[in-house]
Amino acid sequence: MSCEKATIIGLEVHVQLDTQSKLFCGCSTRFGAPPNTHICPVCLGAPGALPVLNRQALDLAIQVGLALNCEIETNTKWDRKNYFYPDLPKGYQISQFDRPICANGYLDLIDPEAHFADRRVQIERAHLEEDAGKSSHDETGAGGSSKIDLNRAGTPLLEIVTRPDLRSGTEAKAFLTELKLILSNLQVSDCNMQEGSLRVDANVNLHLAEGDRTIATPIVEIKNLNSFRAVQRAIDFESERQWKQWQEDGRTIDQAAKQTRGWDDESGQTVLQRTKEDSADYRYFPEPDLAVVHTTVEQRETIGKKIGPLPSQQRAELISAYSLSAYDAGVLVQQGRRFVDFFETIARPLDDGKLVSNWLQQEVLRYLKEQQADIDQFPVSTEQFIAFLKLIQSGKLDTSRGKAVMQKMMEQRLSLEESMEQLGIAPVEDDELAAICRQVIEENPDIIQQIREGNTKAVGNLIGQAKQINRNVDPALVRKQILNFMKTG
Ligand SMILES: [Zn+2]
Repeated sequence: MSCEKATIIGLEVHVQLDTQSKLFCGCSTRFGAPPNTHICPVCLGAPGALPVLNRQALDLAIQVGLALNCEIETNTKWDRKNYFYPDLPKGYQISQFDRPICANGYLDLIDPEAHFADRRVQIERAHLEEDAGKSSHDETGAGGSSKIDLNRAGTPLLEIVTRPDLRSGTEAKAFLTELKLILSNLQVSDCNMQEGSLRVDANVNLHLAEGDRTIATPIVEIKNLNSFRAVQRAIDFESERQWKQWQEDGRTIDQAAKQTRGWDDESGQTVLQRTKEDSADYRYFPEPDLAVVHTTVEQRETIGKKIGPLPSQQRAELISAYSLSAYDAGVLVQQGRRFVDFFETIARPLDDGKLVSNWLQQEVLRYLKEQQADIDQFPVSTEQFIAFLKLIQSGKLDTSRGKAVMQKMMEQRLSLEESMEQLGIAPVEDDELAAICRQVIEENPDIIQQIREGNTKAVGNLIGQAKQINRNVDPALVRKQILNFMKTG
């Protein structure tokens, strides 16, 4: 019997919020400090120590919620999630169970290159919680000790949970890329996956439709995903693995087989870690030491004003205001809000979005990538860039020599004038260009005759001669001017 297979994916994303201090105490959240130096009785869970909410973390969570079209809970509360683990000294984690700060939002995924269909990914909830500490184990087999660093314990996390609306590894990666762009534009997190500021778990199963029945394979939670590429690969692997398993099992489902699997990037496989516990196992109950937090309409509006244009709005704006293609708009917006500002500051006076976009994508992005820098560290000011592109636009500087000029401006941090002087480039004024063209026309009656007879390629010879008179002339302008003079006499 034929069988229709759909891969059903939901994501849980833990985002470390960029606050100075922890969620319920004044300890620093700075990464990389010596172990157990950013700790206090509150984050160690000493008896009698009372948590106090960091309002900044709450504001950042609301910002993210609004950017993801969520409803913001007016009476959000705190719950203890009980479990035992050495890196959790209190024996419970303060989290949010039944009244998360954000719920029922969505993020639209639109792919201009159509690798997947446009899709709305619903955000089930986003709740605040404190992070646990970090344990490290001796993996040499020499019987060494395990160590615990509690600097991270109590750091604010926002856990964003999607509904199972994604259908492939490619879509999951696209969702995460867009989410990360929103979070970085909002400056709520540094989103550094290596340092654990952004952690992703994926829930994956298959829906199999055979005849008039649809059956679902058990949901597998994949952990250890340390890049978006890993998320994509792990999901695609897991989809295939579940498909094969189902066939090997004689097309039956073992409902008890819920699993947590880890991703092994090297072998490109998911590996069984344990059977998954239900959320009931955590025994959530309300946190008695923290009051319900009321959020007001005014508060939400004030925070909402800080959000600014979202990536989707920026793309639409670049396409309509600067006539960019969806692809070009996508590349620019992907670089972040300050890059888009840089683009717009230059494109507005020049009134040629495509020209500016090309230079930014080719020269500027290449330079930034080489230097591993961002646009704030770009050495050429917008004023200099505008002056430079005006020369290109008017034909006083041709593209290939323009690249050499830009190179000097970027790498030697020279001004436009200095760069051109060093390269021996002097812009050719309009009357000088006209004089050169008249001269080559007069000196080459034979070639002019050939052009008149339809051999337009012969104009190349004249351009070469014009370049010998002044190497700064723009070939395209010489061609245009010569043909024009021939028409008008
Ligand atoms: Zn503390």
